[in-house]
Amino acid sequence: MHIDELLVGMRSGAEQSDERIAAFVAGVVDGSISRPQAAAWLAWAYSRGLTDAETVSLTRAMTDSGQILSWPGGSPLIDKHSTGGVGDKVSLVLAPLWAELGHRVPMVSGRGLGHTGGTLDKLEAIPGYRTDLEVSSLEVILADVGCFITGQTAQLAPADRVLYALRNETATVPSVPLIVGSILSKKLAAGVEALVLDVKAGSGAFMTSVPEARGLAEALVRVARGAGLACRALVTEMGRPLGRAVGNALEVSEAVAALQGQGPDDLRELVLALADDPRAAEVLSSGRAYVRFERMVEAQGGDPRSLSGGLLGSGAQIEVFGAPRGGIVGQVDALGIGRAAFLLGAGRRRAEQAIDPGVGVVLEVVPGDRVAPGEPLAQIHHRDGHGLDEARALLQRALQVVDGPVEAPVLVHTRIDG
Ligand code: URA
Repeated sequence: MHIDELLVGMRSGAEQSDERIAAFVAGVVDGSISRPQAAAWLAWAYSRGLTDAETVSLTRAMTDSGQILSWPGGSPLIDKHSTGGVGDKVSLVLAPLWAELGHRVPMVSGRGLGHTGGTLDKLEAIPGYRTDLEVSSLEVILADVGCFITGQTAQLAPADRVLYALRNETATVPSVPLIVGSILSKKLAAGVEALVLDVKAGSGAFMTSVPEARGLAEALVRVARGAGLACRALVTEMGRPLGRAVGNALEVSEAVAALQGQGPDDLRELVLALADDPRAAEVLSSGRAYVRFERMVEAQGGDPRSLSGGLLGSGAQIEVFGAPRGGIVGQVDALGIGRAAFLLGAGRRRAEQAIDPGVGVVLEVVPGDRVAPGEPLAQIHHRDGHGLDEARALLQRALQVVDGPVEAPVLVHTRIDG
């Protein structure tokens, strides 16, 4: 099929067939469709949108563009995907929890970019932890431990890599059908049977409003089902960070606390809401999920001894950020806190940049807490003052003390069960 026909078809506004969309994706991957032609196709998709049937075709074609992993035998294969936020360490808790509940969890995760953190960066704060194991090793780990968390390989959904780079260059990233195809193709290629989505809404998220996030969540659930993947979604709050720790090693320590039945209430509440299993609370409280996490860390080359005793990311200096006045803690803004951690060195601007696993921010308060003047609102973990002035200035705006009253924060806005 010639590219002219594909572009004229898109321009006409008529629904495009499975065959046409597959021809487009195949041409993008084998290079027979030029970058300007692919960019024009994306611009049409962005401006006119894609129907659900077209989005299912796009998702399937992107999935089929590379290797599709399969995990022989055994219990149900489940995964979770979050659209990303600040302090989101849920995967580190949920993967071993689900494994303990009898599922298999082949989790393929990403790195952080800008103020949003990435699960791989957090795990790489654990000395020795490998996120690049061969599929044959991952198969063994899945069979023995029941879960792994690894990085994307070049062979999984290669069409997404090419299309995503073009979307970045052509301002077509924020298109719901293109986002849906991008997220779901990678999950389908990773061989999961069921997917739970955590679509975040708020200043620290990709989608800043709840209606926008709900629209994306609904589209993801409809298209996933159309592509044969069982799927449900939660729309959850990201106007404030999840938990108290923001920064890679700091977040691993908080995830470890949650796995040992402790940790912040909102993290536990969200993990349990996503796990959706009546046995989950008891398993988390028992510490059995922590033992499973230790086994996963060890199987992936990490040193489980580093998880206890404050060894992770050690060497950072700590400065206390005190309340400018007495009152009630009001807003705790996710974007401001995320940017502060980023400027301290916890995040990267470009994919190839190195990060500092030990730095970040630990909140000492949650909205609604009463504080006296000078009482600690947060700890700033910095490396020799790098980014410290900017972080202080950001925290001043992000952490507001008001006269009150402050509304109780909502964590889960909506559930979409399909
Ligand atoms: N995350 C993805 O994987 N793809 C998108 O297009 C947006 C967010």
